[in-house]
Amino acid sequence: MKQAAAAQAVDMLIVGAGFAGLYMLLKARRLGLRALVIETAPSVGGTWYHNRYPGARVDIQSMEYSFSFDEALQQEWQWSERYAPQPELLRYANHVADRFGLRDGIRLGTRMSGARFDEAERRWTVRSEDGDCWSARFLVMASGPLSSPNLPDFAGLKDFAGPVYHTADWPHEPVDFGGRRVAVVGTGSSAVQAIPIIAGQAAELTVFQRTAAYAAPAHNAPLDRQLEARIKADYAGFRARNRRMHGGFGSLLPPNPVSALAVSAEEREAAFEARWKIGGFAILGAFNDLLLNPQSNAFVAEFVRGKIRTIVKDPATAALLCPTHTIGCKRLCVDSGYYESFNRPNVRLVDISQAPIERFTATGLRSGGREFGFDALVLATGFDAMTGTMMRLDLRGRGGLPIQQKWHAGPLNYLGLGIAGFPNLFNIAGPGSTSAFTNVIVAIEQHVDWIADCVAHLDRHGLSTIEATAAAEAAWAEHVDAAARRTVFLSCNSWYLGANVPGKPRMFMPLAGGFPQYAERCAQVARNGYEGFALA
Ligand code: NAP
Repeated sequence: MKQAAAAQAVDMLIVGAGFAGLYMLLKARRLGLRALVIETAPSVGGTWYHNRYPGARVDIQSMEYSFSFDEALQQEWQWSERYAPQPELLRYANHVADRFGLRDGIRLGTRMSGARFDEAERRWTVRSEDGDCWSARFLVMASGPLSSPNLPDFAGLKDFAGPVYHTADWPHEPVDFGGRRVAVVGTGSSAVQAIPIIAGQAAELTVFQRTAAYAAPAHNAPLDRQLEARIKADYAGFRARNRRMHGGFGSLLPPNPVSALAVSAEEREAAFEARWKIGGFAILGAFNDLLLNPQSNAFVAEFVRGKIRTIVKDPATAALLCPTHTIGCKRLCVDSGYYESFNRPNVRLVDISQAPIERFTATGLRSGGREFGFDALVLATGFDAMTGTMMRLDLRGRGGLPIQQKWHAGPLNYLGLGIAGFPNLFNIAGPGSTSAFTNVIVAIEQHVDWIADCVAHLDRHGLSTIEATAAAEAAWAEHVDAAARRTVFLSCNSWYLGANVPGKPRMFMPLAGGFPQYAERCAQVARNGYEGFALA
């Protein structure tokens, strides 16, 4: 660690150089602010820098999962596939950084260690692990809702003699599984994408499953150039239509506005089948109450289980792969040959739902009194989502209040954007906003635009700080909770609820109320002079 340096003054310090940090930097500069991004990784790209496991690709269609703020950018960029693979998404992030001349505002390889709000100065003092220090009027956390890998405290993990990989922190050198016996722990979205590729490389693949996953086929393919041309002929209109959708995407195929209970069994099956053929999240829009009404949800869950039983040849394996929880309660996975992988002779599935991993050994692991041997281990165990990154920082608001104390029972905030006791700190696409249920780039653009407008408002009115009030924050927590209660999302143990990390407080973190309503609420708050915030 270097000696503590004198603080360099900036107007806005932005943490993270993923899509959120890049766009925030651009907007800050357009406001005339001196802004700096600090980024732990040696590259821009955020999620798409770290999550480079085999098979990693976006689960929202490429034509929708991209920035809309610049017409020339969206016209010139060409995606190669319906769902862009990770290397292409990383190229896109780099392209944005270059095209808008952002690189000189980004300090790579710089990990934030903490920040403290100085009440007299009304500024944040931000520190890096290397001893660098900045004094910033605004602190923007663009660090991403899924950026701290979840590494369960497995007994004996250090004893395992082979290489250990985490899907969210994948090495940058090629990983060769050829001729090796590989184990994958976890069956969420990351595992569902990685398993078909690893299965094709490894001599043997053993998948340790605690909870079976629902996956809908991506039907990925080269991008349909006619569709691309159609969208590009009116990209602005397409984006606007998507922003009116519940999740900020999917206007090409809007949800059917009919209850699954209002039609015959034959009509239901036909609707599910049609949307299964289209792929991705389409199936969850086959009726308007699949994520609201458990009875309707049960129909689509059983439809997908039927697909699993058809695809997977061994009935015992198929039975284990059939989830029993509500579908969509954990984020639906979008796959390319996941269930088919279990038909391969070199792949076996081990159910650890009743017999958790007891410990790792030098040569494998022990579960339920059985020993399993392998040469390499892939942990696809997800993230300490939404709060993990901020809770690992020494982040202190007014009176030195640590974020760990503020959020001891869960992430309190207002609109997901501001935290009482933490003036001039903004959080992008975090808890309390629709981030996780939205095309995240749509969510990012809405947050960044709101923050930029807010900063401009403060400057126009000669104000120095904005801070959520405790009353607004309490009401917002109730609003987020009530939105979740209207859905099936509370019916299983998901990362939305913090349930995937032992000891984490259970609080439903993302807002399930729909992007258009949320965006309108944020706009209304701004129109009403930032009601619910104290401005000084
Ligand atoms: P995840 O959905 O949280 O899945 C983690 C998996 O690890 C689960 O199967 C979980 O089982 C298992 N696990 C965790 N701790 C375990 C333990 N101690 N013992 C055994 N198993 C354990 O994480 P993820 O797959 O990385 O995905 C997280 C989110 O990232 C997704 O929901 C999605 O939003 C995003 N993502 C998107 C894509 C994409 O398609 N674009 C790809 C990857 C990720 P339980 O279910 O029993 O907890």
